[in-house]
Amino acid sequence: MNYDVIIVGCGFAGSILARKFAEDNKKVLIYEKRNHIGGNMYEEVLDNNLRVHKYGPHIFHTNNKEVFEFLNNYSDWYFYEHKVIGKIDNQLVPIPFNFKSLELLYDQKDAQKIKEKLLKIYPNEYKVSILDLINNNDKTIKEFGEFVYKNVFENYTAKQWNIPISEVDKSVINRVPVILGYDDRYFQDKYQYMPKEGYTKLFENLLNHQNITIKLSENALNDISINNNKIYWQNKEYKGIVIYTGEIDELFNYKFGPLPYRSLKLVFENYDMNYYQPSSVVNYPNEEEFTRITEFKYLTNELKDNQTTILKEYPQKYDYQDENSIPYYAIINEENINQYNKYFELTKDIPNLYMCGRLAEYKYYNMDAVIERALELYKKVSSSNEKNSKK
Ligand code: FAD
Ligand code: UDP
Repeated sequence: MNYDVIIVGCGFAGSILARKFAEDNKKVLIYEKRNHIGGNMYEEVLDNNLRVHKYGPHIFHTNNKEVFEFLNNYSDWYFYEHKVIGKIDNQLVPIPFNFKSLELLYDQKDAQKIKEKLLKIYPNEYKVSILDLINNNDKTIKEFGEFVYKNVFENYTAKQWNIPISEVDKSVINRVPVILGYDDRYFQDKYQYMPKEGYTKLFENLLNHQNITIKLSENALNDISINNNKIYWQNKEYKGIVIYTGEIDELFNYKFGPLPYRSLKLVFENYDMNYYQPSSVVNYPNEEEFTRITEFKYLTNELKDNQTTILKEYPQKYDYQDENSIPYYAIINEENINQYNKYFELTKDIPNLYMCGRLAEYKYYNMDAVIERALELYKKVSSSNEKNSKK
């Protein structure tokens, strides 16, 4: 069989590109080394009949209308605004830290003073970065910032990344702001929904096209190799389009060393009770070894009596030589980006090879960013196959 497009990886990046090319009447082959579709979005149903996100909690949110409209072709949705609480000083308070959190953790007079100061110093802001607060010249604001930094960010970040918070990229810390008001939503995006029948069903619909063939449990690199800037597929030169969504260092045989990632140990627990905790996610910034507990019922909208499943996330070292170790988070810093760029340079001499997704681009992408990137790449590749216009 001849394929016009070969795609490595069946997560959002690979599946969206597969669908777009298939609709152009191109024959598409997807390789997926796991035994299922959907990448990190995959859900499975446990023995207690409850659906869980196998690779950690996934909540869809975006400001990009095009992205949401695209997904609407493959799923119905229900409105879901994600709320997180954090255990600080044995109290459960809203995260991102907001005025309610302040009132719960400070005495009334101090809380009032800080709120007034915040509104005076940031009169037109809805939210502010914790890094901004701790660097503020005003003593009250700075001390407040330091309190939040110490209680919400410092230990959580050290657990998650295994390095001091000062070495973690600002863009990572700034994913979670401090809210200057009572909004207690984790995300502030315009579109916040969950797929009615789940992500796996969404992927089944996305991939349901006669021009798409999927090979599961197959590492593409058993069939694909690169030599002298040419791609070989099943030992013959392949001139079609190759979209790669896996780890770029693996593609080039770790030539410049393995790229660092953080991994997670995910521990699911079932309980014979209606609800385990008062919110879908509770963050544990400080004492516990895990960072957060997710209770899936809240995310999946499944209201089963006397049964619930929770997930504890324990951050772990990633080991590229251990096939059970999963590269969940790229560790963004200058040194690692330089290492990534060396790999990326190699792709520039291979005109029919395209990188897309969290692993192939070594980025901390949310799903909407991956979808946006896949749709953009499709436009570029389909409008021109010329090397210079692709990257
Ligand atoms: P992936 O989903 O990782 O897919 C890549 C696929 O390629 C994998 O299935 C892999 O097995 C396969 N593959 C790799 N190499 C090969 C090979 N050589 N041969 C065959 N197959 C290969 N985003 C949000 O918007 N909201 C959230 O709430 C959210 N929560 C998250 C929670 C966690 C714990 C994590 C880790 C991520 C979260 N994300 C969230 C991000 C989201 O998971 C990603 O943006 C999205 O899944 C990335 O899609 P992808 O296709 O780039 O990568
Ligand atoms: N973070 C924190 N305390 C929290 C939540 C987040 O310190 O209670 C920091 C931490 O460094 C984390 C980053 O903010 O890695 C981004 O958090 P987010 O919830 O976006 O992480 P993800 O859901 O992607 O794991």
